[in-house]
Amino acid sequence: MTMTIPMKTVTESRTRGKLFILSAPSGAGKTTLCKALLAHFPDMRFSVSYTTRQPRAGETDGIDYCFITKDEFVKGTQTGKWAEWATLHGNFYGTSAEFLDTAMSAGYDVLLDIDVHGMLQIITLYHEAVTIFIMPPSSEALKARLESRATDKKEVIAARLLHAEKEMAEKDRYRHIIVNDSLPDTVKELIAVVESYRLEKK
Ligand code: 5GP
Repeated sequence: MTMTIPMKTVTESRTRGKLFILSAPSGAGKTTLCKALLAHFPDMRFSVSYTTRQPRAGETDGIDYCFITKDEFVKGTQTGKWAEWATLHGNFYGTSAEFLDTAMSAGYDVLLDIDVHGMLQIITLYHEAVTIFIMPPSSEALKARLESRATDKKEVIAARLLHAEKEMAEKDRYRHIIVNDSLPDTVKELIAVVESYRLEKK
């Protein structure tokens, strides 16, 4: 799928955009937080990841993810399509290098929702990337949220929980850690962090 990024008008800043990376274990509320950030900063662009995972109910191709085949993904690893990629729960996930470069060159700040492996690859390319880790309030809360997502099978939930514990152990690699105790407070905190970096370039 090809995504076009409109150029900014001459009256807007052409300063290169900034990268914001949000990571969190599945079930920590990251999707909701990404949506809240994008609603607050309408000129921020979301990097829609590519994945070989099957779409979940309610997910739309090109919006939530670009759903592609394993062959297409592997070809991308050979042609330099990915700024970073990782395998999670038996599926490939990757970020389009072209999207990042085009969006940031056009002056847009870009939001990435990727895991810790992806974050570590991205910061080797983009040292200035702002990295934020969202923690669930507790492991119990995380388990409850994952179980309430009826779309995943029990084995998948168990694997995601195990993976979540491993991800949380990496939280200190991020510049900012925010505990998602209360959604409205977390949204406020997240917006404040992002705003502080966006103000820097002016
Ligand atoms: P889910 O399958 O629940 O949508 O996502 C599983 C995990 O994959 C989440 O932690 C999410 O942040 C991560 N993820 C999504 N897209 C990418 C990507 O492009 N690269 C990497 N490295 N991780 C991703």
